[in-house]
Amino acid sequence: MRQVRQKHKSVMNAPRSTPRRVLFRAPRRTLRRTRAVLAVSLAAGVAAGCAASGGGPGGHSGAQGAAGARVEAPAARALDAYATRLGEAHTAWTAAVRRWGLAKRPLTAPPPPAVKPHIGARPGFEVRGQKHLPPVFTTVPTTDRVVFLTIDDGAEKDPEFLRMMTELRIPYTAFLSDFLVKKDYGYFERMRDKGVTLNNHTLNHRFLPALSYESQRREICGMQDVIRDQYGKRPRLFRPPYGDYNRDTLRAAKSCGVKAVPLWNAEAFTDRLDYREWDRDLHPGDIVLTHFQGRGQWKGTMPDMVRTFMKVVTDKGFAVARLEDYL
Ligand SMILES: [Zn+2]
Repeated sequence: MRQVRQKHKSVMNAPRSTPRRVLFRAPRRTLRRTRAVLAVSLAAGVAAGCAASGGGPGGHSGAQGAAGARVEAPAARALDAYATRLGEAHTAWTAAVRRWGLAKRPLTAPPPPAVKPHIGARPGFEVRGQKHLPPVFTTVPTTDRVVFLTIDDGAEKDPEFLRMMTELRIPYTAFLSDFLVKKDYGYFERMRDKGVTLNNHTLNHRFLPALSYESQRREICGMQDVIRDQYGKRPRLFRPPYGDYNRDTLRAAKSCGVKAVPLWNAEAFTDRLDYREWDRDLHPGDIVLTHFQGRGQWKGTMPDMVRTFMKVVTDKGFAVARLEDYL
């Protein structure tokens, strides 16, 4: 019974070009070999994500098929077991999509770009001497149909949210402000352990343009130190509170190791998305802002916000990708 189930999983997860008829009619030896080929194909597929839609067009069949045919028996068995595990992981993911109440299965992001795009300041968002300062931008230049989820501040520390994002494998990036985070550093440590990058959103969430260069430096560089001390790594990304900054902000940020200043092109709430652009739409590479908030701050929970965000994103044909993969 287990054997049969495995075969079906392999077939279901195979690239579209795989001839299903042949698989079912093939004699046993050929079948085993074909499954090894499938396992190789699946292994390539998982690098891109987990759904069958991943991977380049037509990229799986020819060359990898030939490689698979040369696989020796123990290797084939290992690949076979790997394919089974992949199938089980995919089943668990599909169950999680249902359990967390997502309207649709999220689309799989393409593989991270081999060459990272050049990020410049968004026109109109530059300061004097911008060329030598970290760029402020709202969208990553890419033609991939991906958007990036970024979550700010750190007020709400909802364990359900951590579980949901882990089970659904939705990537996101956090921008933390110490006056909120310090009430429970452990929550964000667990987040980091799940592979989330923790970035700088200042110590006290002040309106930076009203502060002197030295005070801004304390706010930004102080948070760099907190994140290094608590989580082991100085961030590369910084986001000014309210998205407000001046030249001193970028100078101060650069002086303590900040490489880029991502703002956002849309904002997610529990019931809607708000957009920066006149077309009220998402675009490839858009950065989406939301906040660690709970029922005290908005009408719902973090999982409610994720459901709303994912529905809009998936309906519009976008996948959620990891911001750090593009920067
Ligand atoms: Zn904020």
